[in-house]
Amino acid sequence: MLHMYDYAELAEKNRRFLWHPFTQMKDYNAQEPVIIARGEGVKLIDVNGKAYYDGFSSVWLNVHGHNVPELNQAITEQLEQIAHSTLLGMANVPSILLAEQLIRIAPPGLSKVFYSDNGATAVEISLKMAFQYWQNRGRTGKHGFITMNNAYHGDTIGATSVGAIPLYHQVYKPLLFSPHIVPYPYPYRDGGEEASVEATLRQLESLLQQKADEIAAMIVEPVVQGASGMIVMPDGCLKQIAELLRAHDVLLIADEVATGFGRTGKMFACEHDGVVPDIMAVAKGLTGGYLPVAATLVTEEIYAAFYADYEEQKTFFHGHSFTGNPLGCAVALANLRLMEERRLVDQVVEKAAGLEELLQPLKGEPHVGDIRQKGLMAGIELVRDKQTKEPYHWNERIGVRVCQRAREKGLLTRPLGNVIVFIPPLASTMAEIADMMRILAESIREVTIEQKEQAVR
Ligand SMILES: *Cc1c(COP(=O)(O)O)cnc(C)c1O
Repeated sequence: MLHMYDYAELAEKNRRFLWHPFTQMKDYNAQEPVIIARGEGVKLIDVNGKAYYDGFSSVWLNVHGHNVPELNQAITEQLEQIAHSTLLGMANVPSILLAEQLIRIAPPGLSKVFYSDNGATAVEISLKMAFQYWQNRGRTGKHGFITMNNAYHGDTIGATSVGAIPLYHQVYKPLLFSPHIVPYPYPYRDGGEEASVEATLRQLESLLQQKADEIAAMIVEPVVQGASGMIVMPDGCLKQIAELLRAHDVLLIADEVATGFGRTGKMFACEHDGVVPDIMAVAKGLTGGYLPVAATLVTEEIYAAFYADYEEQKTFFHGHSFTGNPLGCAVALANLRLMEERRLVDQVVEKAAGLEELLQPLKGEPHVGDIRQKGLMAGIELVRDKQTKEPYHWNERIGVRVCQRAREKGLLTRPLGNVIVFIPPLASTMAEIADMMRILAESIREVTIEQKEQAVR
């Protein structure tokens, strides 16, 4: 059934009653909002009937597209059984079956699943588990953390503490614990692949030599650092980080919230380097982008440190109302089944090669400084001066303006500063990817030329 909507009325109510995430409402309220009514495949359709490509997978979540019959059916069938019951002291059917499937596809060695409902809480749980692991083992001095420069791990207080993007995190400093920070290799700005990896490893090793006794864990966005601007770690770096941590008895937490479930061309990004983390946080793609389910996966060794007589008080005292929600777990199961049936991860590898070709012509653009891609996760960094790599000033809002132009042309995405993000649903066809890239390339060309003309005037 097609609904009829009154755009003006909805826009007015949106303005009066809603506060949007990561949004300066003063800017937002000055614009005509996009109000989505429904989705079909890789397109989102607004209340006026205009269709847009979902060029950022509804903030990096979507896998098979929208309104997928198999996923819809999984939810309906579960709904006819039960929508929710708790995992506190009891179990439900889909959460058990999904845990089994997650362990089957996870890097070997991860053996237990702890559910929550979003990426930040999956990270929060990872941090608390890593901390308590050492407490339970009697190594009570090991309570510090290591994170990486410009890291993003979500917006709760613990996740914000291990965040290192000044614009998002600086204001909360007095509220947060302070991790050690080592650089994430950023070849474009830090002297190329070799030098940037070398700097990361050197600083990590020296920190570990001095402080490993005080450090519980290091948290890493494996292979692609997303929110900082899609920065891709050179091959082999993650493996060397993992080896240094192991040698110094510090746990590795892999935040696979953005990179998990095929996004980078492997089921999990850790697999690119054959790394098995001690703790792994997953969310975004887990339910195909349908419902909020997240999970923290751990090795048997972590689990065993909490497994004790009740009197020892080693229990993990953490949980949420909706932990292991049956509707979410049911659709996650259907998502994983579809991924397998359609060999989606292999398809991502093939489509990534196609995307790489489509990105080539952009390299010659006068304001495209760097193009980074791993699988179907790509960032295009715009610069004012290509020779000196001088960035556009944040006041120029170049990323915002390119994305605004793309929206007019029928594609939705969100920039990360001066980086244009392209993260299409994994099931996008090559023709759809090509059409999306056409819109993005046109938008980049037009807006960077306009910006230059304005500067001359
Ligand atoms: C999105 C993201 C998070 C936070 O997930 P939410 O579900 O938004 O809380 C954490 N880590 C990474 C790497 C992410 O990209």
